[in-house]
Amino acid sequence: AIAVENLSKRFGRKQALSGIDLAIAKGEMVALIGASGSGKSTLMRHIAGLERGDGGSLVRILGDIQQKDGRYGADMRALRGRIGVIFQQFNLVARLPVITNVLVGILGRISAWRGTFGVFSKAEKRAAIEALGRVGIPEVAWQRASTLSGGQQQRAAIARTLMQRSEILLADEPIASLDPASARRVMDVLADINRTEGMTVLVSLHQVEYARVYCDRTVALRDGKVVYDGPSDALSDSFLTELYGAASEELV
Ligand code: ATP
Ligand code: MG
Repeated sequence: AIAVENLSKRFGRKQALSGIDLAIAKGEMVALIGASGSGKSTLMRHIAGLERGDGGSLVRILGDIQQKDGRYGADMRALRGRIGVIFQQFNLVARLPVITNVLVGILGRISAWRGTFGVFSKAEKRAAIEALGRVGIPEVAWQRASTLSGGQQQRAAIARTLMQRSEILLADEPIASLDPASARRVMDVLADINRTEGMTVLVSLHQVEYARVYCDRTVALRDGKVVYDGPSDALSDSFLTELYGAASEELV
């Protein structure tokens, strides 16, 4: 589903990514870990098609060339529409009802722009409430998004990607600001969607315990390079100490 080859990205003097090779098969759920500044978000933005790599880079998504040598492929709009993205926070429009936020997921699929949010069909609204049911919060559909807890907001954002019928879900630290119980609920929902819909999931995580519990495979970045790609339960404590230790020294 995702094939990244020799992806490099330089921001001014900062080499954010260097020579990343990464292949993720359809239906996998993979954790992405690494210290702050290691390049997790930058890598995800490239996979989402929001950023172009430097010369020599190649990103293939679902069999199509999404970008090569710093140039986008042909139909970026269609490709982006097949990828759902969830960030750490600010995934919803706070003053709009939750259901409208979920319905936004199908805007990319509607061929002719219908003008306003008021014109979603009954069937589409029903589907949105069903999607909220899938993530366990059908009862909040008509509340303003701003009234939801952090975990509920993340689950509503996941419902939006269900509505979008994304084939790939990129979640950039979706549980970083949640308490453990809410974090587990969000991860449970991601794992459930991965299993039942076969959605390919790449999720970046600060707490490696969640990678061990929820993802068979973990990819670790350090200074923009892949330094581990393998079974999550084979990550050693000494490796992790070193992985995160390097950054804390940098901060001092
Ligand atoms: P965190 O865990 O803090 O979210 P991260 O692993 O997601 O960190 P990135 O945000 O990908 O790290 O950043 C990787 C490096 O690239 C950092 O040094 C960052 O400052 C730099 N960087 C990212 N985006 C830009 C940009 N638009 N302009 C300049 N530098 C950038
Ligand atoms: Mg980040």
